[in-house]
Amino acid sequence: MKWGHRLRQIVNVLDLATPLGLLIARASGSRLSRGPRGLIIAAGYGWSLPHAGAFTVGNVVLFRAPQGTAGHDPGLLGHEERHCSQYAYCLGLPFLLLYALCAGWSMLRSGNPASRNFFERQAGLAAGGYIDRGGRIPDFRSHKRNEA
Ligand SMILES: [Zn+2]
Repeated sequence: MKWGHRLRQIVNVLDLATPLGLLIARASGSRLSRGPRGLIIAAGYGWSLPHAGAFTVGNVVLFRAPQGTAGHDPGLLGHEERHCSQYAYCLGLPFLLLYALCAGWSMLRSGNPASRNFFERQAGLAAGGYIDRGGRIPDFRSHKRNEA
């Protein structure tokens, strides 16, 4: 494991993101296994939320897919690994608030929580299974012109 991966692993333990991910994995009945680069694969996640096929909390990547197939798509795993790094540079749990704000912004701009979400765009929309639907950019200038 490269030192950057080890640093990310340590930061995500100290900032409590990975312990939260492990708690969610255990409570949801997911099966844990070691992944590459310090990731922890949690297979068979069965709770209804979030609706995504995979999501990440700290270094824990939770998949709906069962053990044996979970984490085998390198594109999706790479996408989730970038979220893992985002947790580290947001110092853990603040990521959840920042992500929610970006998802809300994306909803306003594009009508879906991913297309204009900074974190999803940085992690790679296509790799995460998202379609870039572009954005609705309100034209405030024409609105002002109508008021004048
Ligand atoms: Zn994502």
